[in-house]
Amino acid sequence: MKPTIALVGRPNVGKSTLFNRLTKSRDAIVADIPGLTRDRHYGHGKLGRKPFLVVDTGGFEPLAKDGIMHEMARQTEQAIAESDIIVFVVDGRVGITAQDKEIANKLRKIDRPVFVAVNKSEGLDRGIAVADFHELGLGQPYSISATHGEGVRNLLDLVLDPY
Ligand code: GDP
Ligand code: MG
Repeated sequence: MKPTIALVGRPNVGKSTLFNRLTKSRDAIVADIPGLTRDRHYGHGKLGRKPFLVVDTGGFEPLAKDGIMHEMARQTEQAIAESDIIVFVVDGRVGITAQDKEIANKLRKIDRPVFVAVNKSEGLDRGIAVADFHELGLGQPYSISATHGEGVRNLLDLVLDPY
């Protein structure tokens, strides 16, 4: 069965950059699937011979600031509902924010595997980059750099191990 990986997280942490990297293979088809809401993007990726589907969330950036928390909650819930695995993307340069904590509260209650990806970690000390994010209560965080590709393969190996 082809697993679906949802990328969730607050705006600007690098979800779309990671989505592009995960779906960039030559045979990737990055397209909006008709009939699904326009605020989520779906793409195909492959790790070796393992195919997977990725969902990028975050069509809510243009909304007014007070609407973002509500939109984020709604999209996170929908992405969770239609996915097998959650990759919760956070920003290793900014550290934990109130929005990260809000999302983490939701993710701690679900019965699906959640992986915390500490993005923008290139050039940062790995230990320091991830230590802060243990506090989210979602297990071991993994440092990655979506723009440079560092740690992405490692994360994907872990995420797709059961498949
Ligand atoms: P999204 O709102 O979560 O989808 O975030 P985007 O993918 O649009 O990225 C937001 C900003 O972070 C952009 O300027 C990206 O170039 C930048 N960004 C994404 N990944 C990385 C990374 O690994 N390292 C650094 N330094 N910047 C990144
Ligand atoms: Mg985005």
